Amino acid sequence: MDIKGVGGMKAWFRIDLWKRVMIGLVLGTAIGLVVRYTMSEAEASAIGNYFKPFGDLFLNLIRMLVVPLIFLTLVSGVLAMGDPKKLGSLGGRAIGIYMGTTAIAVTLGLIMGTLLQPGAGFDVSTVSADDIEATRQRLESGGALETVGVFEQIMRTVLSIVPTNPVEAMARGDVLPIIFFAIMFGIGILLAGDAGKPVADVFNSASDAILKLTLLVMEVAPFGVLALMAWVMAQYGLSVVAALGMMTLALYLACGLHMLLTHGFLLKFVAKLPLIPFYRGVTDAQMVAFSTSSSNATLPVTMSVAQKNLGVKKPVASSVLPLGATINMDGTALYQGLIALFAAQALGIEVNFGTYVTVAVMATLVSIGTAGIPSVSLFLATTTLGVIGATPDQMLLILAPLFAFDRLLDMMRTVTNITGDLAVSTVVAKWEDQFDEKIYRAKDNVTAEIDRTVTHDT
Ligand code: ASP
Repeated sequence: MDIKGVGGMKAWFRIDLWKRVMIGLVLGTAIGLVVRYTMSEAEASAIGNYFKPFGDLFLNLIRMLVVPLIFLTLVSGVLAMGDPKKLGSLGGRAIGIYMGTTAIAVTLGLIMGTLLQPGAGFDVSTVSADDIEATRQRLESGGALETVGVFEQIMRTVLSIVPTNPVEAMARGDVLPIIFFAIMFGIGILLAGDAGKPVADVFNSASDAILKLTLLVMEVAPFGVLALMAWVMAQYGLSVVAALGMMTLALYLACGLHMLLTHGFLLKFVAKLPLIPFYRGVTDAQMVAFSTSSSNATLPVTMSVAQKNLGVKKPVASSVLPLGATINMDGTALYQGLIALFAAQALGIEVNFGTYVTVAVMATLVSIGTAGIPSVSLFLATTTLGVIGATPDQMLLILAPLFAFDRLLDMMRTVTNITGDLAVSTVVAKWEDQFDEKIYRAKDNVTAEIDRTVTHDT
């Protein structure tokens, strides 16, 4: 390689990673929008499809890390904690705040839906029969049209946490059973005492290696994000704004407020930390969440920024964040509140305060057992719509247009979901004395060198 090339590479790597990802995001969005609005929809979609495999390559790379990362770092995190009792207090606190922030999120969705009336004037008779049929098939294949009672819903979630075969859970990428097995295995190693020492060393070293690999994969993020954004924009453009303008505004506003007010309150008044380092530190993860629409796939990045930018130590990052990717979905829950009101307004269904409370409780419950993957909100929405008394046919009338334009809304929900996980993990880390405030406050904590040392305070 000539000197110029090497110099160029060095200059590129000297730019903070979050800035490079931002460049990818802005460029990808611009390319996609130009493609979408300078040619026919079919041509734009064909060009978008050239970008997609590159985006998928990045997506595969980060998804490749999810299972080994959760398993290895959580076992090593349990070992670092040294005492299973501490894990109980940490988990209890995390689950408590997760439930609280989720309930606030649904409430915010309900308030915004009341104020902005996103469903008023939405004419359900314009929904096409093809869209309705496609939605029916999607929902049926996801089992979302079965009616499940609250008790059954809770018991299904509880049972799904304990894997009968941990390897199968790993193969399926089911986060909660992997967390359960990793914690049990870590406790087993601790109880084995001296006999467990060799395997403990293996896990500690393997968890450092997988965190390094995560940093390496993140170097691909600017290009992956560019490709994903170019594909999304070429494919969908800003059509959601024309079709569901008020819904888009309500969701973006409510999510923005939730991240600023609810998460901000937690950090400022509960953890007593300045806010700027938090919002600066989480940017990389937010951009990956925005472009992938999947909190599960973003997990490696979330875990890496928590440790390297926010100063959350391994025992908390490795347990609270994977748990959050599944059980804490503030953006998703908030959207359930919005969908309830959108549907009530569009279908002319009367809702009262009691319905609001039931929607809040059900939305919090259903979002617990569901993995953070693209468009999962719309599968959960059948429960929410059931609460307000919509019939299955009415559900399809509401969900068909929402499915068609979901991507841009899903992106914002996913950002809110992972921001919530990161805020809660910071607060829990501070409470549990598993926090490095120097890292949190460091000005240049988002620098981009591949060979930076990962913080592993074991
Ligand atoms: N895509 C979101 C996530 O992965 C879930 C949703 O559909 O709201 O967090």
